[in-house]
Amino acid sequence: MKDQIVTGGFEGQSQVQAPLTRQLAGQIAVSEVQNAAETWTPQRVLAWAFETFGSRVAISSAFGAEGMVMIDMASRVHKNFRLFTIDTEFLFPETYSLMERIEEKYGITIEKVLSALSPEAQERMHGEALWKRDPDRCCNLRKVEPLRLKLSTLDAWITSIRRDQTSVRAGAHRVEWDAKFGLVKVNPIVDWNSKQVWRYIHDHDVPYNQLHDMDYPSIGCTHCTSAVRPGEDPRSGRWPGLAKKECGLHMIEPAPDAQIVRRAEGD
Ligand code: SF4
Repeated sequence: MKDQIVTGGFEGQSQVQAPLTRQLAGQIAVSEVQNAAETWTPQRVLAWAFETFGSRVAISSAFGAEGMVMIDMASRVHKNFRLFTIDTEFLFPETYSLMERIEEKYGITIEKVLSALSPEAQERMHGEALWKRDPDRCCNLRKVEPLRLKLSTLDAWITSIRRDQTSVRAGAHRVEWDAKFGLVKVNPIVDWNSKQVWRYIHDHDVPYNQLHDMDYPSIGCTHCTSAVRPGEDPRSGRWPGLAKKECGLHMIEPAPDAQIVRRAEGD
């Protein structure tokens, strides 16, 4: 979204023009549609996001089942959609292989966002296996700060979070202001459940991560993801044994890490 000019003033008075900041423009866009968007289909939400923000909106995905639904839906709404992923460099081979299939099937290039620190540099600076000793710090270095830098180049981001995934996500709206990162956040399938996700995948022949067929309902980094047993919480395989169930991307607290500089990204 470009900065907008609005006019104000009463009839008969000279009208004053004032530039709106990017943030204010985003907040106004949210306030205009937030309630109505709760009744929209996911496709209409996507169409609104693409029409409103153009090339300044991108889908963020880690290529879970929900993420695959979002990518497929977007491809039917707007051909040249932007898609980025936070590549922690600790992803499963199956995830990297899925990324190649996505690029081929949908004819897009995934923008890969890397941490400022390579895995080797992280080990030199923070010691071996930081994810075991301080997973919040590791997620901050490899996910949250790279995402913060990426989002600073956008006016809106599209996610595939669902309210029923975690308590943190329970209050999410289809269209909302993301105060943590300072842009509009669009969650088209926020009210879906797992059954709807898998029905869409099968009905539309959408590719998905092979690990889902090996009891990995939620997939992140190799170091912090395990298979779950039947009947267990689908997210219990993330950071198993720890209370941590969110990497921080969808949490609501600002904590920029000033030391971190972008090392590489695909945009
Ligand atoms: S999920 Fe684990 S390995 Fe990946 S960034 Fe977070 S703590 Fe580090």
